[in-house]
Amino acid sequence: MSLTDTIIIGAGPYGLSLAAHLKAAGVAHQILGEPMGAWRHYMPPGMLLRSEAFASSLQAPRAGFTLEDYCRLKGLPYRPLGMALPLETFVQYGLWFQANLVGETQTADVLSLRRVGDEFQLSLSDGRTLAARKVVIALGLKGFAQTPPALQGLPARYASHSERYGNLDWARGMDIAIVGGGQSALGLSALLNELGARAHVLMRESHVIWHERPQGGRRLLSRIKTPDAGLGRGWRSLFLSECPGLFHMLDPARRRQIMDHSYGASGAWWLRDRVLGKVQLSHRTELRGAAIENERVVLRVLSDGKEASVSADHVIAATGFRTDMRQHAFLSKELADAISNQGGMPDLSAHYETRVSGLYVIGPASAHSFGPVMRFVYGTKHASPTVARHLTGSLKAGTRQRAWPAAHAPLPERSGE
Ligand SMILES: Cc1cc2nc3c(=O)[nH]c(=O)nc-3n(C[C@H](O)[C@H](O)[C@H](O)COP(=O)(O)OP(=O)(O)OC[C@H]3O[C@@H](n4cnc5c(N)ncnc54)[C@H](O)[C@@H]3O)c2cc1C
Repeated sequence: MSLTDTIIIGAGPYGLSLAAHLKAAGVAHQILGEPMGAWRHYMPPGMLLRSEAFASSLQAPRAGFTLEDYCRLKGLPYRPLGMALPLETFVQYGLWFQANLVGETQTADVLSLRRVGDEFQLSLSDGRTLAARKVVIALGLKGFAQTPPALQGLPARYASHSERYGNLDWARGMDIAIVGGGQSALGLSALLNELGARAHVLMRESHVIWHERPQGGRRLLSRIKTPDAGLGRGWRSLFLSECPGLFHMLDPARRRQIMDHSYGASGAWWLRDRVLGKVQLSHRTELRGAAIENERVVLRVLSDGKEASVSADHVIAATGFRTDMRQHAFLSKELADAISNQGGMPDLSAHYETRVSGLYVIGPASAHSFGPVMRFVYGTKHASPTVARHLTGSLKAGTRQRAWPAAHAPLPERSGE
């Protein structure tokens, strides 16, 4: 079994960005997962990114590896604002970043992660076992999909969650109901409509909040009044985009309040014309129940206060995600309980370290500690250098020599900040 300083689980934008920093810092590491795997397999071809181009770069340890650099090199169009970045370009950019700054990843899945003595041990789907002094979990939204109770238990042929949509060709000619009123629901409805399915979006909201197309070349005064930021326009967005470290210092109740009231259901500017007048939208509509009748799924809904039913060939729950580390089947119960609060969210230090010393969480699962920016690629700007610095420092400081308690003893908690 090989022992390495650090293992990163996940090779999406967060894992790749951190690996690039560790490589530059000379920290021995391995990275597991398929590079940009979630973007390659679980997002529909033809999708456009919701984030603006300037906010869609992976975080490199040196200049020359932004999305803009990639587009310039490949002769692709690039505009920082108002560009509507194609999924395919973003995936190719991520793979180029990997090839230049990261190197090979190991595509095996992690099946289990345990603490044994002073190491972490990981068993992989290809039968190998690895050991590391530090482990970083960078698994994106995997395992966190939220499906309404009414749809749970329906056969997969009739119901699914928007978390796993690659190719949508199977839906051509079908009636597809979509539950949800956010970007996923609206984006899927546009793509389904354009390939010849009949999409019907059922949303609780009374109207869709459409983002305005951002304009470049604004006057200085306008830019001072409402600056452009990774998460959108305005000073609040600027704070949440650029200051995850300060967000982390807020009182937990204040953090929760900000999370609950930030960036709710809305649609990107480039979706508006592809949805309005083309896709059936039912507002103020709540799902109450579902059943299979005559090979169709029949949804019972309360629409504008009246009971109604909607029949479709398939229903997609575009109902979002909720972080719960206990959903990661590869984590031993001992580890999952040790790193999570009662709701299953990881409690993270200012360096993204969990309560178990040497185990870190980055990406969307860190959002309640560092703010909504962690749900987006832009959050790598803070996460990668912060974690890389801490790992490099603590490995140099010789924590590798620290004696861990025996495997059956309580897991070592990180010391105070
Ligand atoms: C439909 C949709 C659209 C989105 N659009 C945007 C957008 O426009 N802009 C934006 O900033 N964000 C967007 N997001 C959010 C985006 O998913 C996250 O910002 C980003 O992908 C998080 O990156 P990550 O590296 O944490 O995880 P991911 O990109 O999800 O990568 C997860 C990695 O983990 C690996 N993996 C999975 N299971 C295992 C295992 N058991 N063992 C080892 N490896 C494993 C995968 O192979 C993959 O490499 C979107 C999300 C969705 C669902």
